[in-house]
Amino acid sequence: MNDKNFNSVLLASILITLILVVGVHFVPDKRLLLLPDSSARLYLLTKPLPDGSPSSEWTNNQHTAWKCTKPENYNIDYFPCAFTIDMSKSAEIGMDLSSFNHINLHLNYQGSSNKVRIAIRNFNSDYSKTSDSNSTKFNAIQIHASELNKELHLSLSSFAAADWWLTQYNIPLSRSAPEMNNAMVITVDFGEPIQSGTHSFELKKIELQGEWIAVEYWYLGILILWLGSIFIFAIKRLLELNEQTRHDTQVINQLSNTNEQLQEETNKFRRLSTVDPLTQLYNRFGIDQIIASFSGNNHLHSPSTPNYSLLVIDIDHFKHVNDQYGHDSGDLVLQHIAKIIQSNLRAGDFVGRWGGEEFVVIMPGANQKTAMAIAEIIREAIFNTPCNLEKPLIVSASFGVSERHTDEDFASCFKRADNALYKAKEQGRNCCIYAEEQL
Ligand code: GH3
Ligand code: MG
Ligand code: MG
Repeated sequence: MNDKNFNSVLLASILITLILVVGVHFVPDKRLLLLPDSSARLYLLTKPLPDGSPSSEWTNNQHTAWKCTKPENYNIDYFPCAFTIDMSKSAEIGMDLSSFNHINLHLNYQGSSNKVRIAIRNFNSDYSKTSDSNSTKFNAIQIHASELNKELHLSLSSFAAADWWLTQYNIPLSRSAPEMNNAMVITVDFGEPIQSGTHSFELKKIELQGEWIAVEYWYLGILILWLGSIFIFAIKRLLELNEQTRHDTQVINQLSNTNEQLQEETNKFRRLSTVDPLTQLYNRFGIDQIIASFSGNNHLHSPSTPNYSLLVIDIDHFKHVNDQYGHDSGDLVLQHIAKIIQSNLRAGDFVGRWGGEEFVVIMPGANQKTAMAIAEIIREAIFNTPCNLEKPLIVSASFGVSERHTDEDFASCFKRADNALYKAKEQGRNCCIYAEEQL
């Protein structure tokens, strides 16, 4: 998901969340109409009075209106005047009202009583028995008669288990809270000895009302949804970053390998560019590089110390060798001489093939005396070490030697050595001549 898409999804999620947070308050409540339209079973408790008339009777065909008549001076403790809505499905199974929080009640009453009692009876097998209908928990409220005759919006939390019921069934305090998860019946009665006279009721409406889902659960759901999404997003991002890092590491490793290979190639070519392939000595470019590197080496340019001495060596009558033994043999002689020069130098001296059958030796820190001594050693070694061609061949070489003056450049120092070499050739070859101080 690119940044733009992510921002759009985030914005949409925030909007949806806002709508869900605010919208829950506009969702219509869940309602369960028990009267007048439901098919609930309705009962009215009655018994014959001394004159044979009923104590209670329906006053409409729908059985939603009734009246109870208690004669004057009729002294009887229990006078039945109880209306019942039966919601049970069986002797033990009623209706779960726990998801409702209000009861909307419209009860019209005319009579001399001050209070009317509404009770919801709940079956719980822990303390209820099917053989004893009174053992269902008696959750009730008393409503003052003056509040009746209009629709009431009563909170179910205002219902309480009746004291007489708690006492009668020996219910501990921990079980005394009202319960409505298995409501069997709703009753309307007085809950106290009834006054003499006629009491008329009409139950116009009884309805249960509740939220489809409790707001706190709704918010918790939204919160869990967000946390879940953030968690999934974080894991996804982490995996992506991991993959990216893995890929980057791979690329870096590849680049590093390529770089190493390039470095090796560069070193190889640098070496090749400074080395003479025939003798494996430095070539002219290699010698130039060494001289160039000296400019960074202060002691070599210090005015008080000689910087280096040069030997310029040229094989005598080399043309004859080629002419007599062939060019390949000439090459062998060049390799042979190169080895002799190399093996007679000091550690730190440099030797290169300047071109053709000519060699240059750079001897850092060596003065004229040292340089001449070493030149002589090499000269003798060349002359005394025959080269094994078809038959042993003795060759000689001539040497021009110079010692670098303070502040003198290489070209000038070389020139003086070269002139000295020229003189050595003139003087009959196979000898070492030290260069003039000035050109
Ligand atoms: P001098 O004593 O005066 O130096 O005489 P020279 O014959 O050594 O000098 P000259 O300059 O006349 O000849 C040099 C010869 O070296 C000519 C050339 O063919 C030969 N030469 C140069 N480079 C090579 C090489 O790489 N291999 C072989 N075999 N011969 C080479
Ligand atoms: Mg030459
Ligand atoms: Mg020569």
